[in-house]
Amino acid sequence: MKAMVFEQYGGPEVLQWEEVPDPKAGPNDAVIRVRAAAMNYNDVWGRRGDPVQVPLPHISGSDAAGEVVEVGSEVRSVKARDEVIVHPGNSCRVCEACTRGEEFFCRQYKIWGYQTGPLDGAFGEYVRVPAVQVVPKPKNTTWEQASSFGLILETVWRQLVKRGRLTAGDYVLIWGAAGGLGSMAVQVARLFNAHPIAVASSDAKLAFCKELGAEFLLNRTTQNIPQEVRKIVPAGPDIVFEHPGKATIGDSLRVVKWGGLVVSSGATSGYDAEIDLRHIFFRQASLVGSTMGSRADLVEGLRHVENGRIRPVVSEVLPMQELGRAETMMENDEVMGKVVLTP
Ligand code: NDP
Repeated sequence: MKAMVFEQYGGPEVLQWEEVPDPKAGPNDAVIRVRAAAMNYNDVWGRRGDPVQVPLPHISGSDAAGEVVEVGSEVRSVKARDEVIVHPGNSCRVCEACTRGEEFFCRQYKIWGYQTGPLDGAFGEYVRVPAVQVVPKPKNTTWEQASSFGLILETVWRQLVKRGRLTAGDYVLIWGAAGGLGSMAVQVARLFNAHPIAVASSDAKLAFCKELGAEFLLNRTTQNIPQEVRKIVPAGPDIVFEHPGKATIGDSLRVVKWGGLVVSSGATSGYDAEIDLRHIFFRQASLVGSTMGSRADLVEGLRHVENGRIRPVVSEVLPMQELGRAETMMENDEVMGKVVLTP
């Protein structure tokens, strides 16, 4: 089969459309013919080899949709021709964490397509995954839409619903609200009858956030975000959805409600941030971490894709060979919603 492969870390030029061996199903695996695969920031981190040196040669991609073409001898949960998406959490499935439904705490946990390999990710014509990671494709989605939300939906479900304890009426400040995680966070906040306050860097991105259900719109390039947030909700937001990291964590802690929650899942602008501890202890705020989600988190969220209350947001569909261009768009902050690639 053909796949986008890199054999060394570097810029987008290291990505090559190459012939690689066809994946074969082990006893507990499924092989899927990929119809569409979505890009995530992890693909950029992996290609740079920073902060994690991913296994080489590498195929990245943690979100795929397609048809099952082969299953292993022990597999009963899926069969050939099933239309599916992939839950990107690889784990042992038998340890205490996995059986408690907290697979992200498994000592063998790996994000599929990022930490797995060599040659084990979504950007190819076929993929092999453990059958337990296969989830039925929502019938009301195209292949492109179906591939676009697995990773962001389970991440946001855990970050906002489980770790953030999102409740009706909460004010939720969402950084990068037009990006992958942000566009999903706006929709999940709305789903819970909370008040999403969207922050983005252009008016075009903010118009997109409004379409998704954002109630308040703030442009970080022209407005002072903490000041504007105080005008909307003088006590401060109940939850801050944090992922830009170094550039925003100070404002996140400064602006959150006394006793509120800053829930962090990323560090796009840098991880070596300085924080003013007084904002945490004096205001009794909590800074909590969140990463990925369980298969059950994905399935819970998926119901709302099926009932139309969460909309997959695909802004661009490109041939898989143009992955490098897509990753450059992401690095330049030009992506709204998700970019999807098709083989
Ligand atoms: P996107 O590129 O789709 O969106 C990121 C958004 O962040 C951009 O739209 C941009 O919005 C905003 N942003 C970038 N730099 C800054 C800055 N300096 N200040 C404020 N906002 C900024 O990426 P994703 O949403 O897919 O991922 C975001 C981050 O979350 C990445 O670092 C990723 O690795 C991480 N992540 C972590 C996961 C986990 O499980 N822990 C899972 C998924 C992602 P704008 O310029 O419009 O303000």
